[in-house]
Amino acid sequence: MTIKYRNGWWKIMGITLGCKCEKCGYGFAANLGFGFLYHVAYCEAVTKMKEGNLGEQGKEFFEAFPDGAISCEYIVVQCNECGKLMNVPKLDLYVPKDGYDASKQNNNTRWSVAFSGNGYDYVSPCDLDRHYDLFEQYNHRCTSCNGHTSVVEGFTDRTDDSIDRHVQCPECKSIMKIYFCGHWD
Ligand SMILES: [Zn+2]
Ligand SMILES: [Zn+2]
Repeated sequence: MTIKYRNGWWKIMGITLGCKCEKCGYGFAANLGFGFLYHVAYCEAVTKMKEGNLGEQGKEFFEAFPDGAISCEYIVVQCNECGKLMNVPKLDLYVPKDGYDASKQNNNTRWSVAFSGNGYDYVSPCDLDRHYDLFEQYNHRCTSCNGHTSVVEGFTDRTDDSIDRHVQCPECKSIMKIYFCGHWD
């Protein structure tokens, strides 16, 4: 399964990366990027946000921008307090560019057949790039201690050699190497 992504590159949907601590045995694996069920994940996330189940930030955003959109690409964040690793949808908040009216789009072109997205009102990653501007990054909070989190750059599907593929073990604080596990969809 591929989708058309930035700069015209065709890209495989998602990859799985993992890490294992050689010192204490802690293990973690995460799905990154865009899965086949992107439209389902998108709708679930927006619904939760509007209901306030993902914090005030998402709720207030959709109250202010009913035609707003989100990025549902999967990433990994680490708690700044307790070190917990979490595989989450990015949920960055986007607003339509000036003059772009999503409601005037033809549903048949918005929802590509390949996505089987009919019935789900979502903005595809391609449309997000083209027609939306980043409004605000989403502040993920730790599900254990409610601490603030940071994105772990090493957990990304970009094939960029400059990315540091290491992360700190939440249990014993030693440094773990991030490795490729496979594809997911
Ligand atoms: Zn925490
Ligand atoms: Zn460890």
